[in-house]
Amino acid sequence: MKENIKNFTLDELKKQLENMSEKTFRAEQIFKWVHQENVSSFEEMTNIAKELREKLDQKYTLNNFKIIKKLVSSDGTKKYLFDLLDGNIIESVLMEYKYGFSICVSSQIGCKMGCKFCASTGIPFIRSLEAGEIVEQILAVQREENVKISNIVFMGIGEPLDNYDNVVKAINIINNPKGLNIGTRHISISTSGVVPNIYRLANEKIQCTLSVSLHSSNNEKRSEMMPVNKVYPIEKLLEACREYIRITNKRISFEYALAKDNNDNLKDAKELVMLLKGMLCHVNLIPINKIENGKYIKSTNDNIIKFRDYLNKNGIVATVRRELGTDIQAACGQLRRTTVENSLIKNN
Ligand code: SF4
Repeated sequence: MKENIKNFTLDELKKQLENMSEKTFRAEQIFKWVHQENVSSFEEMTNIAKELREKLDQKYTLNNFKIIKKLVSSDGTKKYLFDLLDGNIIESVLMEYKYGFSICVSSQIGCKMGCKFCASTGIPFIRSLEAGEIVEQILAVQREENVKISNIVFMGIGEPLDNYDNVVKAINIINNPKGLNIGTRHISISTSGVVPNIYRLANEKIQCTLSVSLHSSNNEKRSEMMPVNKVYPIEKLLEACREYIRITNKRISFEYALAKDNNDNLKDAKELVMLLKGMLCHVNLIPINKIENGKYIKSTNDNIIKFRDYLNKNGIVATVRRELGTDIQAACGQLRRTTVENSLIKNN
């Protein structure tokens, strides 16, 4: 079976070329064709000898995804459903901000974490994505839209820290100046709280931003919303976060999805202040997205503002995340979930 050339870091590609008795400078040229020129075939690599292009074609694939569905929101957010060429599908979301284009990528096909408010829950976990499949989400969108993406968030389907090696490798590939050259400061990893890998990430020396899905300030409620909390409760999670901040000197962003009559009252806000006081952090308040059959419903605007103001008045920097793409099922997993469910219905 052909190997996906997008799975290789530049150093690994050099080794591949060496093993083919080719000059290693060719690796840089090929890496540029793949990640900067974003070609669709080895044939297009015109400064590479025809013979080598043929060898590459025999040994490797570019694994360019096919877009099977694209939805465009009235606010300009675009959502793509990709065919991974092995029958699996994943989704990515492109958002345009004042500072440029940001993409939300998936890291797994399905997710094992089972967060109750998430549309990826209920779809079985199939497998983790390879590094090249993470990188290809960016390349495929750039090919389709003819834009340069400047920011990446690992907030799509999957728990990035449950696919640790491939995610870190993808970041190394994306960050390479001979490739996409996206600075790690422009890359954000969101985790539900896989504590051991927060410690590992802290020691990687990659300056990406860590977002932690907290969503509740007490263990009972959090365990109900996020089963991962039964394994790594809040105290353990915050211990790991403090260590991450100490080692990287970077601010952590805590995600807090507000659900009506669940975690959105002032008592919750007070508990949250107690928990985060003195930490180098920011709280991102998210009006929860109602998913079909989901138990949680969106908090009222009034409660969201009161919650935000309480945190800010008590020394915790908090902002409310702008909702993008609500008309195109832009919350993670929503589009894939509806598409997979529809195809299951059709096939039954
Ligand atoms: S919120 Fe993230 S970690 Fe939780 S189930 Fe959804 S995709 Fe998985």
